[in-house]
Amino acid sequence: MSLLEFWIRNKKQLEDRQFRVGNVVFHIPYDRETRTYLNFKCQKCGHCCTVPRGLPLTFQDIRRLMIKLGYSSVDKFLSEECVYGVISMETVYPLNIPAKMLTWNLKRFKDETEDDLMIPHRCRFLKNGLCTIYDVRPMVCRKYPFYEFKAGGIVHAAYTSEEKSKCKGFFASRKFKPKLYVQFSKWLEQGWYEVVESLEYGLSHLIEPFVY
Ligand code: SF4
Ligand code: SF4
Repeated sequence: MSLLEFWIRNKKQLEDRQFRVGNVVFHIPYDRETRTYLNFKCQKCGHCCTVPRGLPLTFQDIRRLMIKLGYSSVDKFLSEECVYGVISMETVYPLNIPAKMLTWNLKRFKDETEDDLMIPHRCRFLKNGLCTIYDVRPMVCRKYPFYEFKAGGIVHAAYTSEEKSKCKGFFASRKFKPKLYVQFSKWLEQGWYEVVESLEYGLSHLIEPFVY
């Protein structure tokens, strides 16, 4: 069964089951009828890198990317490699609801402008199906296909709604498989604090809540 079929067939009977892995609580859909969980393991097909929307950067993303791409000037890095503009997020600190954010985004292609940010486009760092900056790829890429939010003093994570029918990493199984979520737990927790830092220090600004 494809992921899309799974969601359409099971939409009304999916339960939100929560599992803590490390310091993050994962929200995993559970289908009561088939008694299966929707797990995730990336198949490294590269599809999500052919259709990402704008890639918002944290302070730490900028620091890591500047070193990798050989920049010593922040201004030069931002003007040559980034686009400043508004991007929509599924959830944004401190609101924990969908919102728009004004921020720096890594250019996905050479002449990208603010008007392009919400249009899916192939990323220029994808070569032969692989990310050429994998070790320093933006936190937003590491966290995919999850988004994070905070509740009860702890970071939570749920699957994003975007592109879910085309990502090959989702699969149904009788058990939740915590081992698959260990690395994600670290990235999501670190990513949460990097986004908070970027907002608190003025790199990014919330614009307005919005409804998907
Ligand atoms: S589309 Fe899904 S399976 Fe393919 S690389 Fe992206 S996250 Fe992994
Ligand atoms: S930076 Fe790497 S992981 Fe992120 S969209 Fe581009 S190719 Fe994919």
